[in-house]
Amino acid sequence: MKTMKILLAVFLGVSWVGGICAQEKPSAKPVKAVRFGKLWDAKGKLWTNAIVVVEGDRIRSVTTDAAAIPAGAETIDLSKYTGLPGLIDVHTHMTIYTDETPGEPMLKQLTNNPPAVEVFLARKGALRTLEAGVTTVRDLGADQYMDIAMRDLINHGEMIGPRMFVVGYGLTVTSTPYKPGINPPAGGIADGVPEVLKVVRQQIAAGADLIKLYASTGTDDDVTWFQTYGYEEIKAAVDMAHKFGKKIAIHSYGPDGARDAVRAGTDSLEHATDMDDATIQEMAKRGTFYVPTIDHNRYYLENWQKIGYANGFQEKTKAFIERNLETARKAHKAGVKFAMGSDAIYTMFGQNTRELGWFVKAGMTPEQALRTATTNAAELLGKEKELGAVAPGYFADLVAVEGDPLADIDVAIYNVKWVMKGGAVVADKTKAQPR
Ligand SMILES: [Zn+2]
Repeated sequence: MKTMKILLAVFLGVSWVGGICAQEKPSAKPVKAVRFGKLWDAKGKLWTNAIVVVEGDRIRSVTTDAAAIPAGAETIDLSKYTGLPGLIDVHTHMTIYTDETPGEPMLKQLTNNPPAVEVFLARKGALRTLEAGVTTVRDLGADQYMDIAMRDLINHGEMIGPRMFVVGYGLTVTSTPYKPGINPPAGGIADGVPEVLKVVRQQIAAGADLIKLYASTGTDDDVTWFQTYGYEEIKAAVDMAHKFGKKIAIHSYGPDGARDAVRAGTDSLEHATDMDDATIQEMAKRGTFYVPTIDHNRYYLENWQKIGYANGFQEKTKAFIERNLETARKAHKAGVKFAMGSDAIYTMFGQNTRELGWFVKAGMTPEQALRTATTNAAELLGKEKELGAVAPGYFADLVAVEGDPLADIDVAIYNVKWVMKGGAVVADKTKAQPR
């Protein structure tokens, strides 16, 4: 009988992603009722005086009827606030967290810290990410499978952080520098179709949730966009990932790698500026997600000395931001689907959602921008029935903000007051005492 139950659970797609097994006895699941003044459920409804009933790590129901609150439920009163689904950041580097140790540039910290130290330190970035209302991330590239370790520690409740979907090593050609001053990760190097296929398989065997491929140069203070992988190699990576039921994210700073990545059938395209109209049209037609990551260059400009970049890169980076924004504007106008990715790294964690401000600048309404970090991002993860909305059966990932995020996107970026992930409160500033 027990085996039957487990088999049935597997058949029904019961997920361990939230870290709590959905097969616990019903009586063991705590029930909570969360009251919001307003609730944007990402399902097309703006509720007034909503009550979200949470059972264990999932949402049981959404109602306005107080009589529907189960007896014995813990009530959390957030009626001063607007509720949103937990937000999703589809482009992070959670394991590349650094602090602001005086006199030690962040690039140097990375080379000095052994992997175990990096993962341990990364818990701070993970917490800041949660505090920004981000309860799920797609982490796009780490060294030595630190991302897999971190994902599993979070899922096992040993570390507090957003739910992670990870890639292991991103695929790079021999000459691509991983990060300036850092040895390239040997695990991700692949030249030619046979090596590409091998490295894709290696990542999947290691436990990656999806695949990442760097199809051009460009990273940190380097905004070049020389295409590094040819179409055949890109196509091989895409097809092999898809054969295993995995999605693929392809990095390209410029239009050439972007064109081939889109034609090859990538699920998402990261960064890409200056895309030609044909590529943009193709993305709209295929439903390829665009993850422009405009804001991370703003972060680099503001923090370059602490990071340890050499002076003199600023003008090129400023120009890149402008072209990135312009490309986003064109793509949005053409009907391309967007997902919010911050490219958070170093001390940028906690600023993950600033990207939404750029999306509004690119022509989106605040609601369209919120979709990039909820329903769209969930679809890109293939988790649109579990993440990115407030509805029965979804993970109980909830955010309370002060103000109206549909009128002003800054409310979602800067006014996060309370966060629940998988039914557990992970951030609470509602009771903050004035100092
Ligand atoms: Zn990145």
